[in-house]
Amino acid sequence: MSDLPTPKPDITPETEAFWDATTRGELLLRRCPDCETVYHYPRTLCPDCLSDDTEWTEASGNAIVYSYTVIRQTRGEYGDSTPYVLAYVELKEGPRIMTNVVDCDPDDVTVGQEVRVVFDDVDEDAALYRFTPQE
Ligand SMILES: [Zn+2]
Repeated sequence: MSDLPTPKPDITPETEAFWDATTRGELLLRRCPDCETVYHYPRTLCPDCLSDDTEWTEASGNAIVYSYTVIRQTRGEYGDSTPYVLAYVELKEGPRIMTNVVDCDPDDVTVGQEVRVVFDDVDEDAALYRFTPQE
């Protein structure tokens, strides 16, 4: 668990299986067998070819930091958590997802750094995916 807040995600019929998997420590992606596109966020229609014949696939959890910023001042729920890292990480499977890099000194994060998914429990319905530097 990181020290960041764990706001409950908006769970819809299209994302219910995704969030359920996070409670088991699994990061799911959608995959289109027709054009081989792997994508996130979860939705039925392939964003590349519009096929609705898509399926779930489990991500390895390995990624690299694509871009990031250190939030040093903010208000609201995250106001007591500064400084923290807001990042886009590029999953090994291709999709880039917005997340936090946690359990490290924010000033040690670099573009291209190898990171791995971790999960912060919200409740019995969901956990939040975040990433931590690989050893
Ligand atoms: Zn497709």
